[in-house]
Amino acid sequence: MIDLHVHLIGHMDRLATRENIRDYLEQARISKIRQIGFADHDLYWDQLDLPLIREVASEYPDLQVRVGLEAEYSVGQEYSLSQMIKSFEFDYIIGSVHEIGDWAFDYPSEERAHFQQDSDELYSKYFALVEKAACSGLFSIVGHFDLIKIFNARPKTDVRILAARALEAIKDNGLVVEINTNGRYKPVNEFYPEIKLLEEMKKMEIPFTLGSDAHEAKVVGRDLWEARGILKTLGVKELIGFKKQRQELFCIE
Ligand SMILES: [Zn+2]
Ligand SMILES: [Zn+2]
Repeated sequence: MIDLHVHLIGHMDRLATRENIRDYLEQARISKIRQIGFADHDLYWDQLDLPLIREVASEYPDLQVRVGLEAEYSVGQEYSLSQMIKSFEFDYIIGSVHEIGDWAFDYPSEERAHFQQDSDELYSKYFALVEKAACSGLFSIVGHFDLIKIFNARPKTDVRILAARALEAIKDNGLVVEINTNGRYKPVNEFYPEIKLLEEMKKMEIPFTLGSDAHEAKVVGRDLWEARGILKTLGVKELIGFKKQRQELFCIE
């Protein structure tokens, strides 16, 4: 089992201390996670202590502890992000879109706005950014692929049509998609991505990984066994882990 989407400092809720890292790794053991990857938001770059994670990891030889980053994809910021990525030996980078232009659409305060605009247009704008992110060459994993559904504003057009170009870009650029179980705890009340997108991805042979998007230690591994079961039912035979930007296969048969 793997959980590659874990936020050590959350939204700056705590510091990157040895004790806090241990709390997460203890929970990984309890949740029977073999490979755990920390991927804090790039927004908090100055608060991260990535070498400390590697150091504390050496106390847990039974765990494969990875260091990643969840980076916002923002048009025009590709160069500065690439410099950030180059400055540390990351195992993987999650590319996420939480903003359309300068609109941070996933904040609870933005819920109403999702219902005050054309949903097809909203989804199209969002997936156009995911497509660009996939083509940027910066990322190894696409974070919460259909985050735009967060408040349960659904498009009129089939989401597979609206997402088609983003899916093609993911396939063409060799990216991995996570099942992110955190969506269940948002108004939409389901994992990202939804089942029909998972089926489409499976058909396209896009590889999968898993992430709880834990922002606190006790959430590490949450619902991941269920997510793994969904993939198994779809006929997926392996999950993808990462080490130094290279994929590692985990058999789920
Ligand atoms: Zn995110
Ligand atoms: Zn996250």
